[in-house]
Amino acid sequence: MPYKNEATPSKVSQRYKIVIDAGHGGKDPGAEGVSGNREQAYTLELSMKVVDLLQKEPMFEAYMTRTDNTFVGLEDRAQIANDLDADAFVSIHGNTYTDPDVSGTETYYYADESLPFAREVHEQLAETTGFKDRGVKKEGWKVLTNSNNLAVLLEVGFLTNRSDETNMLSDMHQNRTAGAIVKGIKKYFVDRED
Ligand SMILES: [Zn+2]
Repeated sequence: MPYKNEATPSKVSQRYKIVIDAGHGGKDPGAEGVSGNREQAYTLELSMKVVDLLQKEPMFEAYMTRTDNTFVGLEDRAQIANDLDADAFVSIHGNTYTDPDVSGTETYYYADESLPFAREVHEQLAETTGFKDRGVKKEGWKVLTNSNNLAVLLEVGFLTNRSDETNMLSDMHQNRTAGAIVKGIKKYFVDRED
């Protein structure tokens, strides 16, 4: 087996460290969906699918800020990525609003350097969820302002909207969504190498 352990794709010049942050957890369950399902469970399921896909890509090393239902502080989440000297931090959330008719996908960034990355991931994500495209927005969420690396926060859809939530809780929709997130991340880094 002469090629064992060798990186076969010759173009892989660098491995990018990607930190996937499953929003909420433990004493902070996050939003309550229409069905009573909590946001922390959704974000963990989707994050694990994203990490599984990232690990199949030779150009990425994937990390998680939590791997079970435990509480991790907002500063600590960003710090995990900073300590790793990560290339990108992607925080995954499900949205909530008092009006159950409000639905859609939105992506947040804070530092201007993160905007092209946010756009790339959002484009894939919004197209794939099939939800209303609510766009890319700048906001000073703590996990973003404390990050020293590219950082985005994805609000995949509204757990308080029955239609969004039904999709978000389906395994098939989660697999497609995870694929879209990874495609967006990959596109950004591949384009940067060219
Ligand atoms: Zn959240």
